[in-house]
Amino acid sequence: MGRKKDNLIWKRHFANLFKTIFFKYELDYDDFSSEYTWSSSAIRYWKTSKRLPQIEALSDLRKFLCTHIVSNEATDKLVIGEISDVFTKEEMLHEYYRIRNAYPRINEFVGEILNFYYNAAKDKPNLDEITETKTDKERNTRVVVFDFDGTLTDGKTNRTTWESIWTSLGYDVKECQNLHMKFNRKEISHEEWCKITEEKFRERRLHRDILENEIASKIHLIKGVRKTFNALDKKNIRIYIVSGSIYSVIKKTMGSLIQYIYDVKANDFLWDEGGFLTQIIGTKYDFEGKAEFIFEISQRLNISPNDILFVGNSINDQFAYNSGVYTLCINPKLTDASNSKIWNNCIMTCDDLTDILNYL
Ligand SMILES: [Mg+2]
Repeated sequence: MGRKKDNLIWKRHFANLFKTIFFKYELDYDDFSSEYTWSSSAIRYWKTSKRLPQIEALSDLRKFLCTHIVSNEATDKLVIGEISDVFTKEEMLHEYYRIRNAYPRINEFVGEILNFYYNAAKDKPNLDEITETKTDKERNTRVVVFDFDGTLTDGKTNRTTWESIWTSLGYDVKECQNLHMKFNRKEISHEEWCKITEEKFRERRLHRDILENEIASKIHLIKGVRKTFNALDKKNIRIYIVSGSIYSVIKKTMGSLIQYIYDVKANDFLWDEGGFLTQIIGTKYDFEGKAEFIFEISQRLNISPNDILFVGNSINDQFAYNSGVYTLCINPKLTDASNSKIWNNCIMTCDDLTDILNYL
């Protein structure tokens, strides 16, 4: 009976990461070879993705990385970025955050990732994959992260903020929706999406007044926002907003309530002296990035993602769960709220935001 073939994609991921780690952290293959007595020809096979190491060699490699990697913010960021790209591509971000949570130190993290790639290439289940079930008992909510459009605002306008800008400039709403669709289908990147939108808006000379007065004035907060923020504040629960909307629109709509918000992540518009749009600076914290933002909060505050409640409503919020956060869907739009992998809970019709206080 022949040996089962390794999965080539993961084998290649293994080889690429193996090379990246040695290159970026300036490690020497010969040091590893002499310290652990694996031949340089064997190492060459791993590098070229011809072969995966034997299980003993992988264990030695992890020990070597643990003792030799010197963490450095810029390098760590590059390596972590490369890893997260792989998991994004393979649509396994949940696994990525599970490992990042469990191994905050880079020298252990990269070893664990190599191990994950190895198991995936060998078609072995990664043992820790069993996702922890979140019971209310285990949760101790310290942070609430809100989406903005359709979550803190009433969805009555039926148009997103973006769609309203397009139509106010005389464009067909379909142009806006088509771009969104292209992005969903991965035909354009988030950056390209922002760039095309920027060009269209500049072409029709979008003015700051249109955005901050005309459009923002039509957006209304859902009932109970002040009450909810007050209640959270009394419990010393931090409030964040992570949104695919626009910073100045959020600021304008929130009014004095903005003081309750610890941080807002959204897209940003820049204006020239006359108040006309010059640039759209896209947020990296929309879609997949929502999970990254939540992960960063959990790291910074040294709390479990499980102690963060995320409240969202739509398709771009579907990635938040990857971070291990507790997710609550309110007034669902373009998302299947009954998908319990993505949404831990749902309020199908939420007319008053204070309803979410029952899910802390
Ligand atoms: Mg939304």
